[in-house]
Amino acid sequence: MTTFALKESALDPRAAVVDETLPAGRGWAREVRAGQVFRIVDLEGNQAVDTLFYNARDLNERYSAADTIREQGGIYLTTGTSLLSGEGRALLTIVADTCGRHDTLGGACSAESNQVRYALDKKFMHNCRDSFLLALAAFGQGLGHGQGMNKRDLAPNINFFMNVPVTPDGGLSFADGVSASGRYVELRAEMDVLVLISNCPQLNNPCNAYNPTPVRLLIWDVG
Ligand SMILES: [Zn+2]
Repeated sequence: MTTFALKESALDPRAAVVDETLPAGRGWAREVRAGQVFRIVDLEGNQAVDTLFYNARDLNERYSAADTIREQGGIYLTTGTSLLSGEGRALLTIVADTCGRHDTLGGACSAESNQVRYALDKKFMHNCRDSFLLALAAFGQGLGHGQGMNKRDLAPNINFFMNVPVTPDGGLSFADGVSASGRYVELRAEMDVLVLISNCPQLNNPCNAYNPTPVRLLIWDVG
């Protein structure tokens, strides 16, 4: 598995059917249909975008970091990575990537991890786990699909644009980002998927360069 498999996209943002900006610290949930292409743009650079994917027709089938890593024989996600579900089926494929490396080991921040890792008084800071749950709740109210989804549906996630190098002895480190302003990752949906995002608000480690920033989210109908 090649890391830093850089590839640009030919898609024109003016032709996108969805083009939204998600502020730092906010959640987002939306269905992307099979065949559509979904792009996340790191607008200002070094922003971690915590993301989960589900089969929109069966929300019990969800992204599996373990299956994805095993099948591609590598721990970083980049162009060509097939994002697999726990059933071993492709949810999406990364078809373009100008950052070149994305993490799926570091997990999402939470009120609890903020306390344990940083300080007791960090409990009340915004965190990805709560953003995921708020976005799921809003999605469920609007469309019905999210009904019944809760903490138990939050599997180990992807951190787009986040740099978590693994040391030779197997250690994980949250390093300063490898992304930069305007870099993006683009995914083709292989089935109807529910996309769940927390645009990470973390201020206690360098995953966002201590400055959480907005991202741009685009969807194209292709073909
Ligand atoms: Zn976070």
